[in-house]
Amino acid sequence: MSRSSELYSCSKALTPGGVSSPVRAFSPNPLFMSKGQGSRIFDVDGKEYVDLCMAYGPLIAGHACPDVIDAVKDAVALGTVYGAPSEPELRLIEEITRRMPSCDMVRLACSGTEATMHAIRLARGYTGKNGIVKMNGGFHGAHDAVLVAAGSGSARGVPGSAGVPADAVRNTYSVEYNDAGAFESLLDRNEDIAAVIMEPVMGNVGVVPPKKGYLEEMRRITREYGVLLIFDEVITGMRLSEGGAQKLYGVTPDMTTMGKIIGGGFPAGAFGGRREIMENVAPAGKVYAAGTFAGNPISAAAGYALLKHMDGRYDDLNRSTADLVSALRDHLEDSGTEGCIQCVGSMFSIGLGCGSISNGTEAQGVDRTVFSALFRHMLDQGIYLPPSALEVEFMSSAHTQEDVGRITSAFESFLKKVKA
Ligand SMILES: *Cc1c(COP(=O)(O)O)cnc(C)c1O
Repeated sequence: MSRSSELYSCSKALTPGGVSSPVRAFSPNPLFMSKGQGSRIFDVDGKEYVDLCMAYGPLIAGHACPDVIDAVKDAVALGTVYGAPSEPELRLIEEITRRMPSCDMVRLACSGTEATMHAIRLARGYTGKNGIVKMNGGFHGAHDAVLVAAGSGSARGVPGSAGVPADAVRNTYSVEYNDAGAFESLLDRNEDIAAVIMEPVMGNVGVVPPKKGYLEEMRRITREYGVLLIFDEVITGMRLSEGGAQKLYGVTPDMTTMGKIIGGGFPAGAFGGRREIMENVAPAGKVYAAGTFAGNPISAAAGYALLKHMDGRYDDLNRSTADLVSALRDHLEDSGTEGCIQCVGSMFSIGLGCGSISNGTEAQGVDRTVFSALFRHMLDQGIYLPPSALEVEFMSSAHTQEDVGRITSAFESFLKKVKA
């Protein structure tokens, strides 16, 4: 019996499903990890993997990035939380406002979930309207207003989880990503919309890039109708470029939510936007947002060190991801297996069974059974993928040519096995 399965039989009796977040579960048991170093993660049985999950996004410079670890050691020696403002949080905020075109001002939070929750409240408080629009398959964390199942067309939300009252999502609407027309016609029919919250590149139904002109169209429509455009850049912020997707595509939203990378591997979140909007946040204004650990000096020091570390490294990271993806695509094509590999910057996804995916509904067409087989095969070959077909593979600046080679040949041998 492996140490992981032993720990799992213990943990599943003590915590639901044996995991602290559902996506980490897989059968017969999740692997318990004991160490991360660069591009590698190590399980409690001593097995080493090339990590392509990278904690679902934060680790853009790999595990235990020395610059980050040094900054954290210095910070932690000075205490861990003050309940008062501190210089590390100011430095991180400055760095975010400098990088993100939409952010004149920023408020820190403890997670991406908190960031989107506060941003939605702020959008409602600022506009005096109630409705929010999200994309089918768009993920914005684990709070009631955004837990709406992918509905069809622009249907009003139905709760996507037990325990979410219908009233909590009565004002949440969903439309299809990459369809600006559907969004505009929803606004034609409804005057009570405060904001649309969207991932500029979808990252929770695999990687789905915006069609040419789509983000610009969303910007034009939201301006015309007086609806706030919120980019949820919890994944894409500081990943697709130093200024996120908004800098890469040249489309500036009214507000932005962030998380993952900005904590340098520690819990963090942030929301920011135009000054006139942000000045409505308490205590400057009347929209409440708060947190004991918000702006925590350790997370702030780690996030700051990671942003600095990444300066000048995006081109290489994106290039090595493009090389990997092109090798994977070649093997996929040679094998004649149906599927698509979609990629933006250093994030990619393998959609087996689908020719291409342009929105959340099409993403539901991926072959989950084949993906599970791929996941198992890659694990056996020492490659750790996220266990769900709709999650994203993340590269880091710590991944090497050797890692790329190992991933590619493991994928090639999987395709051979499928054909056999
Ligand atoms: C991960 C994620 C969140 C939630 O962030 P947490 O820190 O897990 O609460 C929100 N939005 C997007 C786009 C995400 O990928």
